[in-house]
Amino acid sequence: MAGLNLLPALIDLVAVLLLALGIKGLSKVSTARSANGLAALAMGLAVLGLLIQQPLSPQAWLWIAIGTTVGGLLGLVTARRVPMTAMPETVALFNGCGGMASLLVALGVALYGSGGSPGLVEQISIVISVFVGAITFSGSIVAMGKLQGWIDTPGWTQSSLRHGVNIALAVACLVGALALPGAMAGSPLWLLVVASSLLGIGVTLPIGGADMPVVISLLNSYSGVAAAAAGFVVGSQLLIVAGAMVGAAGLILTQVMCTAMNRSLVSVLFGGALGGSASVGGGGDEAGYTRITSCSAEECALALEAAERVVFVPGYGLAVAQAQHALRELSKLLEAHGVEVSYAIHPVAGRMPGHMNVLLAEADVPYEQLLEMDTINPEFPRTDVVIVLGANDVVNPDAKSDSSSPLYGMPVLEVDQARQVFVVKRSLGAGYAGIKNALFELPQTAMVFGDAKVVLNGLLSELRSMGAGKKAAA
Ligand code: NDP
Repeated sequence: MAGLNLLPALIDLVAVLLLALGIKGLSKVSTARSANGLAALAMGLAVLGLLIQQPLSPQAWLWIAIGTTVGGLLGLVTARRVPMTAMPETVALFNGCGGMASLLVALGVALYGSGGSPGLVEQISIVISVFVGAITFSGSIVAMGKLQGWIDTPGWTQSSLRHGVNIALAVACLVGALALPGAMAGSPLWLLVVASSLLGIGVTLPIGGADMPVVISLLNSYSGVAAAAAGFVVGSQLLIVAGAMVGAAGLILTQVMCTAMNRSLVSVLFGGALGGSASVGGGGDEAGYTRITSCSAEECALALEAAERVVFVPGYGLAVAQAQHALRELSKLLEAHGVEVSYAIHPVAGRMPGHMNVLLAEADVPYEQLLEMDTINPEFPRTDVVIVLGANDVVNPDAKSDSSSPLYGMPVLEVDQARQVFVVKRSLGAGYAGIKNALFELPQTAMVFGDAKVVLNGLLSELRSMGAGKKAAA
């Protein structure tokens, strides 16, 4: 009998250890896939551990089976179908689901009880779980809508009216939270649910542009905090540990992103009204440029052939074009001709943290050739040719020099310091922040218009035919 009681605790312990190993493994590209498997196994064990502790009716088992099947299938289909470029939206949606789950658990206990009246710790946990869970849910859904282009930033959120609205909502949350312990299933609960959900919308709606990655990782951290609080509500040690790990990891990531983008968290959360970084769109259309030089793949290939040192700058467009394999082919060809090749990786290039590392690892680009911003920036002045592939915001020199730019203050890859720069993209269209790029008009820059994969394949065949021509002449 004692053995039977020990079993759930043992399962929980194994699950916590697997989860910790899983999170540790995620820090390296080479172990990330198996680490994800370990974390999934931990979650499966956690569910099992919980189920064998509960005396459940056949009807409850049926509901659990239906919920697990529907949720599992939805997760499977989403994971299989979503393209890498839509990862941030997916992460935002999953964060939202985490927040909603914690909110529902706390609501369930508040409304129907968990056997006996809730103690002080349980009551405080319910308040935190409802508050953070609701903010995470509504905030994540707004973030997903913005990333997907479904939701625009309304004008009023850029004025001080937004602060007034959010302060009023925060006060309503406080009133609900303070009144809740005395009236668990009454109106304070619903006041807290509604006010927190609106607050989630109110704080996320004004944020946009280059600050979006920070918001996503912050919401990820919130989902962990909400889960940990839900763990206290239902007395699940595993949920407390897992939630705390996600909360702490999300907070560290948020801090890393803020440092990488030279933003303080406060300026991200309150920056919109200060005329900071919330603008998306405008200023980046083709009509805004006057001094553009464009060239063909052949001219670009000639410059590459003459170069001794080449740096590739991958960006979101490279992922859209799925051109990583063509890029690797081109690098190999250049290296075979004695050219020194490296890749400049900006921390927020693409649409998720580490996006470019994952993309290039897929094409077996050696990890040592991927150089982070601080390492590669001093190298640009001695670089012959930089090829910018579907990157835009992360190479915009205005981020350093134009204090009116929404990107101002974000450290960028200083490709303008190189001798020659080729920018491969389909048009003069803007990047994620929706603004003009001063790099395109610099005298050392030439645009190579086209899809990144088509241009890279063009460069490959030009270089191959040049090589063949040389051999024939010899
Ligand atoms: P950008 O979004 O600034 O620019 C991408 C460029 O790729 C566009 O200008 C587009 O130009 C071009 N492009 C699109 N499709 C193709 C294609 N098939 N072939 C060639 N080019 C193409 O990308 P960056 O990587 O420079 O910057 C990332 C931005 O995203 C930053 O502002 C960052 O803050 C934001 N962000 C980052 C997240 C992260 O975690 N990394 C998450 C959310 C947002 P054109 O249409 O003319 O081809």
